[in-house]
Formats: sequence, C-alpha cells, structure tokens
Amino acid sequence: MYPFEYVRPASVEEAIGLRRADAGAQWLAGGMTLLPSMKLRLAAPSQLIDLTDVEGLDEWSIGDEHIVLGSMSSHRRVAEADEVRTRIQALSTVAAGIGDPQVRNRGTLGGSIANNDPAADYPAALLGLGATIRTSQREISADEFFKDFFETVLEDDELVVAVSFPVPRRAAYLKFRTPGSRYALVGVMVAETRDGVRVAVTGAGPGVYRATQLETALAEDFRPEALVGLDMSPDGLNADMHGSPEYRAHLTGVLARRATAQAIACEN
Ligand SMILES: Cc1cc2nc3c(=O)[nH]c(=O)nc-3n(C[C@H](O)[C@H](O)[C@H](O)COP(=O)(O)OP(=O)(O)OC[C@H]3O[C@@H](n4cnc5c(N)ncnc54)[C@H](O)[C@@H]3O)c2cc1C
Repeated sequence: MYPFEYVRPASVEEAIGLRRADAGAQWLAGGMTLLPSMKLRLAAPSQLIDLTDVEGLDEWSIGDEHIVLGSMSSHRRVAEADEVRTRIQALSTVAAGIGDPQVRNRGTLGGSIANNDPAADYPAALLGLGATIRTSQREISADEFFKDFFETVLEDDELVVAVSFPVPRRAAYLKFRTPGSRYALVGVMVAETRDGVRVAVTGAGPGVYRATQLETALAEDFRPEALVGLDMSPDGLNADMHGSPEYRAHLTGVLARRATAQAIACEN
C-alpha cells in the first residue's frame, strides 16, 4: 500500500464536496474491487471517501410495482430479503450467486454497477429488468448507463444513490460460473416486463448487452421452445482460457431457454 487520505462523510452533499475538492479521490463502498486494485497498483487514489455512513444510501422503498434499493445494499442483504424475493425472485438469485459469503457481506449494488465488470451479475439484472439508476445528479435508464468494458456514463463526481427495479410479470437469471472466481462465464436474465420482453447477457462479450434476437422470439411466444434452433452468433464474443466465442454463444442460447422455463415456473 501507499499513503492516502481516508474520510467518512455523513451526507451525499458532503461526499460530493470532498470528491470535487480532490480529483484523485475515489468512493469506497465495500472495497471488494477497489482495495484489491490498490494492492495490485491498478488504482492509486489520493483519498478514499468511505460511503458507509452516508445517510440514505442503505434505504429501501418497497412497492407493488417498483422496489428501490439503496446503492450501499450488500449482496447478502438483497439475497436474504423476503420483500425482494417475493416481488423479484430473479434479483434474489442474482445477489445470492455473487462470489462467496465474504464478498456478499461486503460487496454492494452501487459498487458493482459503477465498476461494470463485463462478467458481473448485477449489470445483467439491471439491463434485463429495465431498471433506473438514481444518482446524485439524475435518473439514468440501465439501457443508457452501461457503456463499455468497465465503463459507465457516470461522471467523476457522480454518486449512485439507489436503483429502482420495476417488478416484472416473470423473470429468471441463470449463470454458468467461472469456477475460480464465480463470476459469470455467461449469465442471462430473461424478463417479461410490463413494457415487453428483455433479455440481457453478461460475461459473454466485452460488456453487458441485450440479446435482441432472443427478445424478438420470446415476445412472440414466451416459451423455451421459441428459442430452439436459433443460432447465436459468436461474433464479437470473448475468447479466453475458459471458453471460445462459439462456446459462449452456445451457452447463451442454453441459459436463455432454461431461464425462460424457470421464469414461467416462478411467475411473480
Ligand atoms: C473474490 C471475488 C469474487 C467475486 N465474484 C463476483 C461474482 O460472482 N459476480 C459479481 O457480479 N461480482 C463478483 N465480485 C464483485 C463484487 O460483487 C463487488 O460488488 C464488486 O467488486 C464491487 O465491490 P464493492 O461494492 O465493494 O465496491 P468498491 O470496491 O468499494 O468500489 C468499486 C468501484 O465502484 C465505485 N463506487 C462504489 N460505490 C459507488 C457509488 N455508490 N457510486 C459511484 N461509484 C461507486 C468505487 O469508487 C470503485 O471505483 C467478486 C469480487 C471478489 C473479490
């Protein structure tokens, strides 16, 4: 490690002020990505602005049509909450399947989506469910939020405050884990929302994306059979020691069919 300042603001306004006063500062949520990055010298912030005490970031608002979860919600809290499971079971599944118990205890919703790891689970959940991200400055649809490899539309001094998830008619998330890290080799969220069918894929490509070919087929016929015979293109998908683009394309189709069957089985 190397020297850096550590501050613990109590409000969003204070946190923003601290960030604006120091261009080298970074928000610290659970530290599950940031601290290892610092240890590896991939990040060297001059100041860590710990969000733990910031008022409001752990607040939830639970309704029949939307649930709103504060950005500092740990994966464990989301995974274990009855009020989440009974409304959006797929979201509980996403949170419960992240990493290991230590990661779920510390890792947060806001940290995960701000980081936008191309194999992370929450980006697929937000994109697949058609969520809206509330920041210190504005509201951003998930369709706009995730840009590219580890990149979002967030400004440097913009804080994720909460995420609003519309309750879908039915949805399910399935992932094929990379055994070592438990990140998604491929993860697929299939959702029939009040605004139509959405299918979001993580892990397969350089960033999370919507599989429009699958969405079109499911919009006509929301059954796994509607996806049989659809050839998923491997173009642009990742190739690494865990799998070829062709393998990832194949997995996407398989997981989408299984997730559709599961969504039908556990309709909200
Ligand atoms: C061993 C291991 C296994 C994992 N497995 C998985 C997995 O299977 N699936 C998966 O999806 N993820 C996995 N993760 C990642 C985990 O889910 C964490 O959520 C993720 O690392 C982010 O960590 P954090 O919430 O502690 O944020 P931090 O590490 O504290 O921050 C991450 C980044 O987000 C920024 N940030 C934090 N909060 C905010 C905010 N509110 N607004 C704006 N920017 C913010 C920080 O400045 C930093 O740049 C794994 C991590 C580890 C270490």
